[in-house]
Amino acid sequence: MEEIRLLKVINELGIHAHAAGQIVELAGKYRAKLFLQKDSREVGGSSILSILSLACPKGSEVRARIVGDDAKKFMDELERLFKNKFGETERGQYRPRKKTVKMKGFPVSPGITIGEAHHLDRSRTTVFYRKLINKKEVEREIDRFKHAVNMAKEQIQKFKSNIPEQVKGYAFVLDTHSMILDDSLIFDSTIQRIQREKVNAGWALKKSVNTIHQLFKKVEDEYIGRRMDDVDSVSERVLSNLTGVEPDSLTEIKKEVIIVAHVLSPCDIVEINVNHVMGILTDVGGRTSHMAIMSEALEIPVVVGLESATDIIVDGDLLIVDGNTGDIIINPDPDTIITYEDKKKRYYRYKSAIDRVRHLPAETSDGHKITIKANIEFLGETKAAIENGAEGVGLYRTEYLYMIKNHFPDEQTLFDDYSQIAKMVAPNTVTLRTLDIASDKMMTSDSYMETSRENNPALGLRSIRFCLNERNVFKTQLRAILRASVYGNFRLMFPMISGLGQFLEAKRILKSVMRSLDREEIEYNRNIPIGILIEIPSATSIADILAKHADFFSIGTNDLIQYALAIDRDNEHVAHLYEPFHPAVLRMIHQVVMAGNKEGIDVSLCGEIAGDPLAIFILLSLGLREFSMNIGSIPLIKKMIRMLPLEEVRENFKGILKLPTSKKVESFVLRKAQSLLPDIFKDDVFRYRTIGIG
Ligand code: PEP
Ligand code: MG
Repeated sequence: MEEIRLLKVINELGIHAHAAGQIVELAGKYRAKLFLQKDSREVGGSSILSILSLACPKGSEVRARIVGDDAKKFMDELERLFKNKFGETERGQYRPRKKTVKMKGFPVSPGITIGEAHHLDRSRTTVFYRKLINKKEVEREIDRFKHAVNMAKEQIQKFKSNIPEQVKGYAFVLDTHSMILDDSLIFDSTIQRIQREKVNAGWALKKSVNTIHQLFKKVEDEYIGRRMDDVDSVSERVLSNLTGVEPDSLTEIKKEVIIVAHVLSPCDIVEINVNHVMGILTDVGGRTSHMAIMSEALEIPVVVGLESATDIIVDGDLLIVDGNTGDIIINPDPDTIITYEDKKKRYYRYKSAIDRVRHLPAETSDGHKITIKANIEFLGETKAAIENGAEGVGLYRTEYLYMIKNHFPDEQTLFDDYSQIAKMVAPNTVTLRTLDIASDKMMTSDSYMETSRENNPALGLRSIRFCLNERNVFKTQLRAILRASVYGNFRLMFPMISGLGQFLEAKRILKSVMRSLDREEIEYNRNIPIGILIEIPSATSIADILAKHADFFSIGTNDLIQYALAIDRDNEHVAHLYEPFHPAVLRMIHQVVMAGNKEGIDVSLCGEIAGDPLAIFILLSLGLREFSMNIGSIPLIKKMIRMLPLEEVRENFKGILKLPTSKKVESFVLRKAQSLLPDIFKDDVFRYRTIGIG
């Protein structure tokens, strides 16, 4: 049986990916074979890419030929699809690049920017040619390829199930991606290539994609032609699954753009050049992921946890990024651009007013001295910390020298770094936290870490546990810190302490390092204060015991909240449950402050909430007088402190520990904040950003 009909393309967008997808889906329901012909070219109707390559814009005619059982029924249905414009009217105009789309993520670095989107280029995964020598290798390569494709499908499916409400109408884009993975021009042809040419999966896939590129070169319709982007993005997903390598093209960005990436690692952030990068958007990431914390120091607007930004936004889209609210507007209309230009001006005017006080002391309006220090990740941030008014470094996260190299740094490298920071910050203090490696701060390619990936790294061999296990690594760092301690004022802090035994063990190792320096007659500060980063609930419970053995406490709320509420701090799916104002968290902080005060040791707080304008009221009322925070938050917090009467805050917040939920805490604090500092909390340009409360 053969049925032939001439079908007219009457929908606005022509046979684009979604329309082609519907044809392929229909063809899958019938045993009969469909062929579509335009001009002199005929292609099979079961390949989305072959159909797209016909390039059929509105007004064109396609000759459909169906051979086999039920050809007429099949043809009738096909004709209906064409006549119904492939459902285009129901969906409205869905060319993403022309339609204004709004998304909302988690703002992690304030500011407003307007600029062009630039996908972090993943199309440069280096694929090496490898000849397969026997049948077994061929089979193994095919299995690897199938596995990588399945992984990609799962990844896409996950995006789809989490697609934000505002962009639900674009879920089909993700369906198209899944279909492309199944397409014979990608899937079958890659497998055939592996078999026929006896080459590795990555090489075979690249060749398949190149062939499709050739096919698409002839397509004149810009929209359809741009669907090659979809093929590239899907194949890149498979390639990176195959190689496990994320290409890195950050350093190659030479014009002003807003980066759109699935994920950025802390190492990526280090490489960002803020002269070119105006803002960052990522699909994944919670507000206190290390990438987020670091990105704030760049002082460009950053919004994370957008879930499907990389699927919705295409290169060259005009974006508005509001790092104060997390709002993203893709291809805004002219009125919206004008509104945001105005908002941007007001925001930066407001910011410069704040910046003017940054070098003044953080003294409350009734004369109480508060200390504001900076959290930093690497030496290069020290200058910015001082310029922003930090009175010392309250948390030096020392992991970076370990993460950027693919081996553990030697003592001299560490010493050079530590002695420089000591000199730069003196006479103020630097609190060095010993190595807090693992969890999300994996080393890039150290063989030890490669072979010891854990299922649950946040609860695994991280931080002080790792150091107590890898004593030589630990001792090398301690030697470098002690040797550098003579160049400035250091405090030494052990992270992730869960019990007294662990702390005493760490101190014993420190003492043994001191003894060996004594033997070698190397100078160091033998009175270096030794403290605990309180970030595990067990440590808050026994804070009274720990306080007898420590010189100071610093409360690390980022992890404390994670472990107290059982919420992964880097998981955007549960980010809304990460509640810094949870009554349990406030009580834990209070307990630690009380325990420290009783023993007469310093207690400070270095979690991200220290830089949160609402949280600061609570923290002051709980008795904290020293904070270490993200560099970008320092000027505002200083300005607020200088306007606040501490006694009044204390009086006003007396009942805070009795409130039952974080929502109640938040509205209570907001009310008080608006009455105590109306000038700051009334301005709509500045939206106070409370981490974790959406
Ligand atoms: C914390 O956990 O609060 C902290 C300060 O350390 P980090 O964010 O580096 O884990
Ligand atoms: Mg921590």
